Amino acid sequence: MPRHTRATIHLDHIRHNYELVNRLAPQSKNMAIIKANAYGHGLIEVANSLSQLVPAFGVAIFEEALTLRDSGIQQPILVLQGVNHAQDYQLASELGVWVTLHNLEQLSTLLATPIKKPITVWLKLDTGMHRLGMNQTELQTAVEKVLNCSWINDDFIVSSHYSCASQSDNLMTQLQFERFNQMLSLVKLGKPVKQSIANSPAIVGFPESNLDWNRPGIMLYGVAMFDSQHDSDKLTKPAMTFESEVIAIREIKTGEAVGYGKKWIASSSATIATVAVGYADGYPRQAKSGTPVFINGKVAKLVGCVSMDLITIDISLNTQVKIGDRVELWGENIPVSTVAEHADTIGYDLVSGVSQRVPREYR
Ligand SMILES: *Cc1c(COP(=O)(O)O)cnc(C)c1O
Repeated sequence: MPRHTRATIHLDHIRHNYELVNRLAPQSKNMAIIKANAYGHGLIEVANSLSQLVPAFGVAIFEEALTLRDSGIQQPILVLQGVNHAQDYQLASELGVWVTLHNLEQLSTLLATPIKKPITVWLKLDTGMHRLGMNQTELQTAVEKVLNCSWINDDFIVSSHYSCASQSDNLMTQLQFERFNQMLSLVKLGKPVKQSIANSPAIVGFPESNLDWNRPGIMLYGVAMFDSQHDSDKLTKPAMTFESEVIAIREIKTGEAVGYGKKWIASSSATIATVAVGYADGYPRQAKSGTPVFINGKVAKLVGCVSMDLITIDISLNTQVKIGDRVELWGENIPVSTVAEHADTIGYDLVSGVSQRVPREYR
């Protein structure tokens, strides 16, 4: 028996969005970022569907790379956080997994771990995000050590990450790019090195920084990548349709409340439909009354608190609704970024938060 609640994943849309990246940044190699279960869309399924198209994949943590290798993915895989243990370096080199070195401690461990097959490293610079990355002096030290180490590939890549690329008018992106170039020009690198800084919003909004490698994530899934509306929103196709079903309908009188804490009170008599999705499925508990859902070709509004397994919607104006009707929570008709706005968060949080309980169906 199929569950009421499911996430339909349009793998063809993900491929379309990836091809859009290649058209926008044809001079760069564009690795597909598929961390966090491919932003909730399914790590292995998304990797398989992109494997003929992409030169490499990027994940956050080493376990994600191991899962991909176990399932037969053969492209290079970059671990964006790198690893911290000697045996992980051994395994990474055997499996052709690239590691980020964002500090000298990670490099020390690697230097103390003789490994058979040379490993490829990405040296990460902090250009203003102040989360991960080396400063200029540390990069200089790292470069010298990397070039002197026989089990580290000479062809290292220097990378950084933007803090404000999703705000299209924020000057921080320009500033970080200038710092990146300046640090690279001041460090003695011994030879030309490959470079990488752009994530999705930078690829679109700051194309000067499309370098040897780009790291698009969110735009592959067709989720809005800028904090405010942007022309690019129309170019990508949403890859996830999150839906559920109406399982109960009732009439309530003026002044009656709906849901936990009596947070929403009917200002006139109303018809309420109860839908089989809640925060344990990944529908955001913070979503306020008024958040749109899509049912039978029309928008209806969330009313009352989101429960663990249920939400309630006002269908007073959607007179044809009956039990069993499908409700789109986000997808083609309701952008996930719209739901995110009503829940004080971002689309990234919602798609990656669709829980294990929700079956994914692949198209
Ligand atoms: C997640 C991540 C990306 C992808 O960013 P999007 O905004 O999803 O395109 C790129 N680089 C790093 C270091 C990341 O952590």
